Amino acid sequence: MTKGTASMGKRSRFRLHLRCRRCGQPSYHKQKSRCSHCGFGATTKLRQYAWQKKSHPWNRDY
Ligand SMILES: [Zn+2]
Repeated sequence: MTKGTASMGKRSRFRLHLRCRRCGQPSYHKQKSRCSHCGFGATTKLRQYAWQKKSHPWNRDY
């Protein structure tokens, strides 16, 4: 197996993301051992960005 684009096609066969213990999303990365949704494993706090609140209409400042 070569590295690069050719091997990327086999990615879907491997289960990289498992269900996260903290947020319940299937975003817990097996090898990186961190959750891409809430940051579990990488940070003790919730993964939160300032731009996230803009997506909610009630937080929008027109
Ligand atoms: Zn999570």
